[in-house]
Amino acid sequence: MEKIDIRSLQLEQLKEYITSLGAKPFVAGQVYTWLHQKTVDSFDEMTNISKSLREKLAGECVISTVSIRKKQVSTDGTIKYLYQLADGNCVETVLMRYEHGNSICVSCQVGCRMGCTFCASTQHGKVRDLTAGEILAQLYRTEKDIGERVSNIVMMGIGEPLDNFDNSIAFIRIISSPEGKNISQRNISLSTCGIVPKIYELAQLKLGITLSISLHATTTAKRKVTMPVTNAYSVEELIKACRDYTKITGRRISFEYTMIRGVNDSDEDAQQLADLLRGMISHVNLIPLNPVDGSPYTQSDDRAIRTFQKKLTNLHVNATIRRRLGQDISAACGQLRNENR
Ligand code: SF4
Repeated sequence: MEKIDIRSLQLEQLKEYITSLGAKPFVAGQVYTWLHQKTVDSFDEMTNISKSLREKLAGECVISTVSIRKKQVSTDGTIKYLYQLADGNCVETVLMRYEHGNSICVSCQVGCRMGCTFCASTQHGKVRDLTAGEILAQLYRTEKDIGERVSNIVMMGIGEPLDNFDNSIAFIRIISSPEGKNISQRNISLSTCGIVPKIYELAQLKLGITLSISLHATTTAKRKVTMPVTNAYSVEELIKACRDYTKITGRRISFEYTMIRGVNDSDEDAQQLADLLRGMISHVNLIPLNPVDGSPYTQSDDRAIRTFQKKLTNLHVNATIRRRLGQDISAACGQLRNENR
């Protein structure tokens, strides 16, 4: 019989399971605290739970954990982890330090099947989805490693969160639960390449998170070249879904725009971007490209990026340039995993 992945259960599901074993509902609350506040990795450590129940749980369940396979520390304090999962697969997690607190970028799949041409995470396709427990474990392990609390989360590591919808949502619900780490949904950002039907599904959940769209190009024809998801959903359909999302949730959308030299950094591109976003509550993040081995693309130079930003600002589009943290360990997302396959 396959074991129950207990770290992935939301509190209500855990209550149902624990009471099915004959224990009182409040015991589920205690187990949940052990799993998500004290973040223990074994049932033995749950000292206020009866020995007989602990033995039963150990027989029927597993607790998802990750172990550090590699760790790179930048001079600015950014840490990149290569975390190994129980089955030997690896994912990357990045810890960034800001004045307002620690921020973590988590992975949600082993590899990715979206095929964006500038991205190292997709070079070997998708191996499998991560469970909610495995996404949580990246944060829990990192907090233990640095001995500090993480207060912000970006779901922007390896994988497409909306292609692993249920586990990504379970992760958000557990990490933001008052009985867990209680990280405000306002401090969680989910990044997608634009799976349109899933954006509508997400809107209906009315979560307090920030939705972030990896846009990177302003026309369907151009976006198809770097982001194959555009073959399924045009830029127009994507932007329509974003407008509807802001109306349903009242939440501003963040657009990620990686600046690639000679590909999407012209004046015309800035104008098209402003036209697309006109009237929408939005924010544009301009990201200097992280070069990927084997990719034909190079980064726009700093001047071109600043000019692009200025043009957007003049066209009343709120745009900032992302600060480059961890430049000395700057391997693009997915590259460390590729090197250790
Ligand atoms: S950018 Fe995101 S969606 Fe695209 S291939 Fe990389 S991980 Fe997947």
